[in-house]
Amino acid sequence: MKKVLITGAAGFLGSHLCDKFINEGFKVIGMDNLITGDLKNIEHLFKLESFDFYHHDVSKFVHVPDELDYILHFASPASPIDYLKIPIQTLKVGSLGTHNLLGLAKAKGARLLIASTSEVYGDPLVHPQNEDYYGNVNTIGPRGVYDEAKRFQESLTMAYHRFHGLETRIVRIFNTYGPRMRLNDGRVIPAFIGQALRGEDLTVFGDGSQTRSFCYVDDQIEGIYKLLMSDYAEPVNIGNPYEISILDFAQEIIRLTGTDQKIVFRPLPKDDPMQRQPDISRAKSILGWEPKVERGEGMKLTYDYFKSLSKEELQKSDHKDFSVHNRK
Ligand code: UDP
Repeated sequence: MKKVLITGAAGFLGSHLCDKFINEGFKVIGMDNLITGDLKNIEHLFKLESFDFYHHDVSKFVHVPDELDYILHFASPASPIDYLKIPIQTLKVGSLGTHNLLGLAKAKGARLLIASTSEVYGDPLVHPQNEDYYGNVNTIGPRGVYDEAKRFQESLTMAYHRFHGLETRIVRIFNTYGPRMRLNDGRVIPAFIGQALRGEDLTVFGDGSQTRSFCYVDDQIEGIYKLLMSDYAEPVNIGNPYEISILDFAQEIIRLTGTDQKIVFRPLPKDDPMQRQPDISRAKSILGWEPKVERGEGMKLTYDYFKSLSKEELQKSDHKDFSVHNRK
């Protein structure tokens, strides 16, 4: 039985990856420090013999007794609200955490896939973004802690690949959505759906002309899996190229939820990218991958998930106490 270590296992993408690898017949070792992850996302796996869980912060030395075939590094805060609350951990998990996992991969002879991001392109000056674009990042802005950690992560990974001959893969993930997103992580989809379900106005930042393109989680996971199993070490964009403005998207959500919420406008956060759309030619040609789930279908599944949450879960504005972690 092949063994895979998944960091950030209790998070949104990490938990879906755990499901995918279990379904593919792997022994899965999940790891998470639970700062932003939630055990609820993986509690259905605890009864399985093919699943183990370590409560551990990968910014500290990572010890895994078992042999490992693959490692997927998905531990990181991943929303602008989190970067503001836990900036130092965000920097550490992308830099020190990645270093520890590269060391572990080298010791075990495992292949390592790291979760990079469209944020390495910053507020892009070319459109759509292909993997050869170097990006436009403000190193000292609020998003800098994430963007620069991820850029450093890519450099470190390529150095291990070139210098040590380690087998590495780099996925640049564009906006992805689906069940198990944290309701209050500040990201636009849970924000809008939560607001609609609570009967609040939808908060559009800026004038809503900024664009994003949203990929359904099942498509994202399939792309990541294919990349891991490929022999391609350079970065690959995985995302859905179908672009929409945030204002149009807010109107789409109002139609989807059948509510009569108003749209209210709030200031645009600093360094909020104006346009984001992946060029996925590389993923198409190298992996034979492209997204299949249309936004209407994916949003319906996501809405059903949020609707199934309890009233209490819907009401709480932020269920995590970051004050302790923030001082580390
Ligand atoms: N956004 C918004 N209202 C919200 C939350 C987000 O208009 O309540 C906007 C945000 O300014 C950004 C877009 O939606 O332009 C996507 O934001 P998200 O945080 O989901 O992802 P990212 O900015 O990292 O792509």
